[in-house]
Amino acid sequence: MSYAVAVRALCEFTAKEGDLDLRFTPAPTAAEGMAGHSTVVGRRGAGYVAEMPLAGAYPGLLVSGRADGYDPAQNLLEEIKTHRGDVARIPANHRLLHWAQVKVYGWLLCDGLGLEEIDLAVVYFNVLSQKETVFRERFAAIELRTFFELQCARFVAWAEQETAHRLARNASLERLRFPYPSFRRGQRQLAEAVYRAARDGDFLLTQATTGIGKTLATLFPQLKAFPGQGLDRLFFLTAKTPGRRLALDALASLREQEQNMPLRVLEHVARDKACEYPDKACHGDSCPLAKGFYDRLPAARAAALEQRWLTQEAVREVALAHQVCPYYLSQELCRWSDVVVGDYNYYFDMTALLHGLTVVNGWKVTLLVDEAHNLIDRARGMYSAELDQAEFNALRKVAPAGLKSVLERVGRHWNQLHRDQEVPYQIYPTIADLFIAALQKAVSAITDHLTDQPEGNQAALLRFYLDAMLFCRLAEAFGPHSLFDITRHDTRSLSTLCLRNIVPARFLAERFANAHSATLFSATLSPGHYHADLLGLPRDWQWLEVQSPFSAEQLRVQALANLSTRYQHRETSLAPITDLMARQFHQQPGNYLAFFSSYAYLEQALDNFRRAHPGIPVWAQSRSMNEAERQDFLDRFTEHSRGVGFAVLGGAFGEGIDLPGKRLIGAFIATLGLPQVNPVNEEVKARMQQMFGNGYDYAYLYPGLQKVVQAAGRVIRTTSDQGVVYLLDDRFTRREVRQLLPSWWQVERAIHTLQKPGA
Ligand code: SF4
Repeated sequence: MSYAVAVRALCEFTAKEGDLDLRFTPAPTAAEGMAGHSTVVGRRGAGYVAEMPLAGAYPGLLVSGRADGYDPAQNLLEEIKTHRGDVARIPANHRLLHWAQVKVYGWLLCDGLGLEEIDLAVVYFNVLSQKETVFRERFAAIELRTFFELQCARFVAWAEQETAHRLARNASLERLRFPYPSFRRGQRQLAEAVYRAARDGDFLLTQATTGIGKTLATLFPQLKAFPGQGLDRLFFLTAKTPGRRLALDALASLREQEQNMPLRVLEHVARDKACEYPDKACHGDSCPLAKGFYDRLPAARAAALEQRWLTQEAVREVALAHQVCPYYLSQELCRWSDVVVGDYNYYFDMTALLHGLTVVNGWKVTLLVDEAHNLIDRARGMYSAELDQAEFNALRKVAPAGLKSVLERVGRHWNQLHRDQEVPYQIYPTIADLFIAALQKAVSAITDHLTDQPEGNQAALLRFYLDAMLFCRLAEAFGPHSLFDITRHDTRSLSTLCLRNIVPARFLAERFANAHSATLFSATLSPGHYHADLLGLPRDWQWLEVQSPFSAEQLRVQALANLSTRYQHRETSLAPITDLMARQFHQQPGNYLAFFSSYAYLEQALDNFRRAHPGIPVWAQSRSMNEAERQDFLDRFTEHSRGVGFAVLGGAFGEGIDLPGKRLIGAFIATLGLPQVNPVNEEVKARMQQMFGNGYDYAYLYPGLQKVVQAAGRVIRTTSDQGVVYLLDDRFTRREVRQLLPSWWQVERAIHTLQKPGA
C-alpha cells in the first residue's frame, strides 16, 4: 500500500512537541496572512522562486508541498510565517513545527537538485509593523535526509496501522448481526430506512415513538453500511446527556458480539466536564497536564486507540496514566475514532470540531441526530449574538487607556441606535453600518492591544472582545433568517442588542451538505417539511413515520370540546379542570402529570385543586429547581404511589423522562403549548410567512403541538402500559390540530359537565 501526504500534514502529525498552549494569541486573518506572504516575496531579489513545488519519496510514501520561497543565489530556502506582536511569544511548539516543515522542504530540494548542503530560514513577518525576524541556519543534506526519513517512518507506521484497522473494522462490521433474536414492531422498518439512507446518501427525517429501540435501530444499519459505502466516520449527535448514554449502551450491546471488536467508539464531552484542573489555564506554565502535552501525546493516543472503547471515564484513565489533559486527548481522538458520540454543537456550531475535521480531511461521514426536534432551537442559539450595554459601560470604565477612544465611539453609535426608540423592544430591518464599523474598529484595536499585552487583561475585556467578534461575524451574514432587535432597559439610556437567528437553515445547510447522509429522528418531528425547511436539509430529504408499537387500546385520549385555556378564559377554566382531574383520579387512583402553559397558571390551578380536593396528594414543579429537586419530583412517581404532579409544558418534565408502568398512568394537558404572542414571535410569524408561506403554523402551532405530544408521550412507554390523556382545550378538536397528533391515537371528543358542589 502506498500513501501520499502533504508536507504540512506530515509535520503536524509527526513533529509536534512541547506544551499545549491555548493562551489567547491574536493571529493574523487569512487576508493579512496572504498579504504578508506577498510583501515578503516582493522584497526578495530577481531569481527568487516563490511557491516552489517540491516532492519526494520514501518507501511506501509520497510527500509533496510548496515551499514558500527559494533564493538560488544564496542557496536559501525560506518558510514564511505571519504573526502579530512579539516574536518571542510564538509558542515553542509552533516554532518547532515551522522548523520541521522547512527541514522537510530542505531535504526535498537537496534531493531534487543534488545539493550537499543548504541554508534554511524561518521568516516571521509581523503584519502590523511589517518587520521580518529571520532565523537562519545551514544544514548538511545528509542531516536533513535523516530528519525526513524519521518523520516518514513514523507516518508510514501509523498509516499502515490505520489501514489495517480500517480493514479489520470493515470485516467485523460485515459480520455484525442485530443483537436480539427479532426486531420489535417498527424497529425493522426504521432500520431498513436508515440503511437505505446511508447507502444512497439520503437525508432522512424519521418520527418514531419511544419503545421501539430507536437508538439501536439507527446505529445498527449505519454501521452495516460502513464497508459498502466506504464510510469514514459516524457522528451520533445528541441534545442532552441521557441521549449520549443510550447511544453508548446500544453500541456496547453491538460490540458484545465479538471479543475486542475493532470499532473505535469515542464519547466526546465538553471541556468543563473533562477538565481536571478547573482553576488553571490551558498552558504549560499553569496546568501540569498541558506541560509536555505533545511529548506524551503519541503514547497516550496509541494506548487509547488500543482500547477502542473510549467512554469519558476510559479517556480520563488513559490521559491520567500518561499525564496529559483528558479533554485535549479526547479532541485528538476525534481524528481517529470510527464513531464519535457527542453534543450537537461539535458538528453544527459555527466553529465545530467534527465538521472542521470532516472538511479538512475530506471524510465521508454519516450523521445520526438524536431527539432532533431540539435541533432548531439549539441551532438558533448557536447562530445568535447579544451585546449588553450595562456590561459594555462597566468595561469602558476599566478599559486600558489606549482603548478608551474606540470604545467611546462604539458607545456613541450605540446610543444613536436606540435614541428614537419609544418602545421597550423593537426589531429593525437593518443594522446601522456606522455602528458595525465602530465595533469592527474596536475589535481590531483590542486585537492589537492583546497582541502587545497578552497577560493580565480583565476578563470583561476578553468577554466583550469575543462577543463583539461574534456579533461582527454574524452581522456580515445578516439576512431574513435573523432579526436585529434592541431591548431598552428601564433606565432608557441602556439597551441590549441582539442578532437573533430564527431560521438556522442558512448556516446548517453547509453542514448537511458536507455529510454523505444523515438520519434525524425523534418521537415528534411532524410535520417533516417544517423541520426540513428550518434546518436546511437538502431538497430531496425523505420522510418516514415508523409504525408505532403501541395500540389505540392502550391509551384513551379525550379532547374537551367545551373548555378553553386561552388567556382570557383562564379564571373560568380552573374549576372544570380541577373537577375533571379529581374525577379521573377517583375513578382510577394512581399517578398523573398535569401540564400548564406557565408557572402562573400552574400555581392558580394548584391552589384551586388543593382547596377543592385536599385529600389528593399533589406536588409541583417550581421555577428554579436544581437537579436534586428535580429528582425528588420524579421519585414521587412510584409503582405504589398516588397523586398528581403539576408541571409546566415544555419544561424539565415535559420530555426526556421515563415513568413506565404504574409510575404514570395519565396526563392532563391544559394548553396547546403555543408560544406567547409577543413582538419577537409576531415577527417570526411574518418572516415564516414570507419564507415558507405558512407563518402561523411555523411560528406557533407546530412548536406548540410538538410540546404537547412530547408531554403526552410520557404516559405510554411500553407495550404493556395503559393510560389516559386529557387534552383540555376545545382547539384540540379542530381538524388541523388533530392532524398533528400521533396517528395511532384515537381521539374522542368529550364534553365536561361540572359537578355541583357536594354532588
Ligand atoms: S486539565 Fe483543564 S486546565 Fe488543564 S489543559 Fe486540560 S482543560 Fe486545560
